Amino acid sequence: MTIIDGKMISAQIKDEVKEKVAALKQEGKSVTLAVILVGADPASQVYVGNKKKACEYTGIISESYELDEKTTQEELLSLIDKLNDREDINGILVQLPLPAHIDEKSVIDRISPEKDVDGFHPESAGKLMIGEKGFLPCTPAGIIELIKRSGISISGKRCVVIGRSNIVGKPVALLMLRENATVTICHSKTEDLKSICKEADILIVAIGKPKMIGRDYVKEGACVIDVGIHRLEGKKLCGDVDFDDVKDIAGAITPVPGGVGPMTIAMLMKNCIENV
Ligand code: NDP
Repeated sequence: MTIIDGKMISAQIKDEVKEKVAALKQEGKSVTLAVILVGADPASQVYVGNKKKACEYTGIISESYELDEKTTQEELLSLIDKLNDREDINGILVQLPLPAHIDEKSVIDRISPEKDVDGFHPESAGKLMIGEKGFLPCTPAGIIELIKRSGISISGKRCVVIGRSNIVGKPVALLMLRENATVTICHSKTEDLKSICKEADILIVAIGKPKMIGRDYVKEGACVIDVGIHRLEGKKLCGDVDFDDVKDIAGAITPVPGGVGPMTIAMLMKNCIENV
């Protein structure tokens, strides 16, 4: 059994980005990511801090906007307009979730599709759907990199994705289809989930339920990708997969932490240099 090392693979990707940023610098080009945080949610502050650190490492300039909790939707939209118009800004990231008085969809829709490094804009989603080049959402794109860079072939394989959210399940299913897997998407209304999962060569789990997937869902030798992140009492992290139960039956598996998690920021860095 192989433990897929997301820490190592994400570090490789960040190093590749760092090299590219340095080469761009030689050509007189800089790369800048605008990061917007509204309010003081502690988890969001940690995520934004990690994104800034990754920018520092790769040589990407991060321009930080830490706005008051009471910022109005109009104020936020007008900041996005200004950043859309600035030629020196390559990517705009609005940390989600936003405070309840701000409509998330209006904010995502306002970001120029050319600067949509999170890949959440409807134009980016549409391009993914029809197979045109556009920004890919970071977690799903990171999952594809993890599988490929671990030497696991996707073409022709049976892939089952559990979860159909717009940020993970649906886009990762489309990306696996693009890689020529035969894809099944499961969700909370799926009947006989276990037997469908047992047919998967590659099982991607994005449910949001701690340790729900045990060995009775997994075919012997399958590759298991666990997207879930949960903090258990005592602060230990776990995923949607019961790692200890599944590890001896799987052929390859991502741990939590250290699997899919670190890939998201690495792919964000990669998106920032995409259009430079
Ligand atoms: P959502 O809650 O948006 O979606 C969960 C999906 O799982 C839904 O489609 C739901 O079905 C399905 N589901 C829920 N319960 C069951 C069940 N019992 N059987 C089958 N399907 C079920 O979650 P996200 O996609 O946003 O995130 C999933 C997990 O991944 C979370 O733990 C989240 O924290 C983590 N995550 C990790 C990231 C990272 O590593 N960087 C990034 C994003 C998310 P239905 O549609 O029918 O309700």
